[in-house]
Amino acid sequence: SLEHNSNFIRTIIKGDLESGKHNKVITRFPPEPNGYLHIGHAKSIIINFGLADDFNGRTNLRFDDTNPLKEDQEYVDAIQEDVKWLGYEWDDLRYASDYFEEMYQRAVLLINKGKAYVDDLNQEQIREYRGTLTEPGKESPYRNRSAEENLSLFERMKNGEFQNGDKVLRAKIDMTSPNLNMRDPVIYRISHATHHNTGDQWCIYPMYAFAHPLEDAIEDVTHSLCTTEFEDQRPLYNWVVQECEMESQPQQIEFGRLNLTNTVMSKRKLKLLVDEGITDGWDDPRMPTISGLRRKGFTPEAIREFVKETGVSKGSGAVDEAMLEHYVREDLKLKSPRTMGVLRPLKVVITNYPEGESEMLEAEINPENPEMGMRQVPFSREIYIEQDDFMEDPPKKYFRLFPGNEVRLKHAYFIKCHDVIKDDEGNVVEIHCTYDPETKSGTGFTGRKVKGTIHWVDANSAIPAEFRLYEPLVLDEVMKAAEEEGEDKMFLDYINPNSIEIIKGYIEPNMENVQPQDKFQFFRHGYFNVDPKHTAPGNIVFNRIVSLKSSFKL
Ligand code: ATP
Ligand code: MG
Ligand code: MG
Repeated sequence: SLEHNSNFIRTIIKGDLESGKHNKVITRFPPEPNGYLHIGHAKSIIINFGLADDFNGRTNLRFDDTNPLKEDQEYVDAIQEDVKWLGYEWDDLRYASDYFEEMYQRAVLLINKGKAYVDDLNQEQIREYRGTLTEPGKESPYRNRSAEENLSLFERMKNGEFQNGDKVLRAKIDMTSPNLNMRDPVIYRISHATHHNTGDQWCIYPMYAFAHPLEDAIEDVTHSLCTTEFEDQRPLYNWVVQECEMESQPQQIEFGRLNLTNTVMSKRKLKLLVDEGITDGWDDPRMPTISGLRRKGFTPEAIREFVKETGVSKGSGAVDEAMLEHYVREDLKLKSPRTMGVLRPLKVVITNYPEGESEMLEAEINPENPEMGMRQVPFSREIYIEQDDFMEDPPKKYFRLFPGNEVRLKHAYFIKCHDVIKDDEGNVVEIHCTYDPETKSGTGFTGRKVKGTIHWVDANSAIPAEFRLYEPLVLDEVMKAAEEEGEDKMFLDYINPNSIEIIKGYIEPNMENVQPQDKFQFFRHGYFNVDPKHTAPGNIVFNRIVSLKSSFKL
């Protein structure tokens, strides 16, 4: 519910119910099935479903599938999965293509009323004739064809007698209107293409500006909520509803698009990333798609809270990606088990620990949520720590392990380094330490203090695992610098080469049976999700969702 975010759309709806203009609210979420949904769509979903829910109304999921060349069943399926995963249930599932016959009849009605005509000008000529903001448009020489001739030509268009681009149907409105959208917009075009729903039944397809208001009216949508780039189309939207003599009169209301820093968001660009093989599909964890965020490990709760916090205003500045990360940390903090994983292992031999022996140590599963209970962590003579938790020659203020220094092993003992083993090239390959049995975690030892606590896993029982660390695919500063240089190269030339790092490490043996999409907080490393695509028996793959620290402040 958007209850806590009173916003201007809610005020309009409330007024319409109070005045009796409507007695129920119907909204729709109308994606075109030409790609996967992204985080921007989540805003539209939350507004449309959330507002209707608040007023006990209804929301349709409607596929705005009027452009057969770009649409595909794969997208239809993925969109449904993503809407459900975000936590929303549609009342009716609709396809704009189911209304093609009715739309055709409404176009015939316009022709009969002298409000539409078949034009033979080509696309380029139509653009030229349209004029500009400072220059009125010119009428097409075909504008004054008789209704009879138009009806016959439109029917022949439908029957497939012309090639793509030979003719279009245009609304006859006003070539001198200050609003360019009203200068006789094209409402039907010829496209000999197979449609994912209607097959080869049609070779003419309605344009968005004509189809959308009709779809809304057919479904008795009361409030048609869309993004601000459609503001200039509102007069045309109303014209279509009026002149097509629709019984229902939906009201279009615009809100600001949601944009994020350090990402690309348009479906066209996202599709390029997929088609060029730059990402591992639409659900690559670096994608701002709902499926990508899901695979990376974001939760529906985090996405919903984030979107609600960004609000419903008309503005559309880019929101800091750090804010989205803030919400996933908040959501996972109490829910996800804590564990230890070593991403870049360095072997430590504890020389005074009896050979061949081991013990089980107790550790809280989540100290911030004691109800989650305890876990068992094995400990023995050989363990792994992180390579960068040891330095042979440390700078001042380095409180981790170095020769002669003592640190705490989380949930275990103090250890002190006394020897460094190197290979022929001088690389540290192993370090030798002693441990102090008196310092066992949980015994209340207070004899002396150490400044560093590091994590570890037992070398004998640890499970190998793969960790995938991510950075943004595109960086705003790089894109901006490219633009300033006047570069008009594709954004594909500016992909961050470090956007993914794959490393092999170890995890606690009690994680043997983790399942795809399980989420954990790895001590000091952040939150991770078990990747559902690459995880296989004997090969657990973790995607880092976020690191632990954030510079973001609400
Ligand atoms: P894109 O430009 O990314 O391809 P689109 O607007 O063409 O997106 P549609 O499938 O037509 O995508 O979108 C369905 C609904 O989602 C529309 O009502 C649209 O206004 C809304 N929507 C799309 N992108 C955003 C966004 N970034 N923020 C808020 N709403 C959005
Ligand atoms: Mg669209
Ligand atoms: Mg689009």
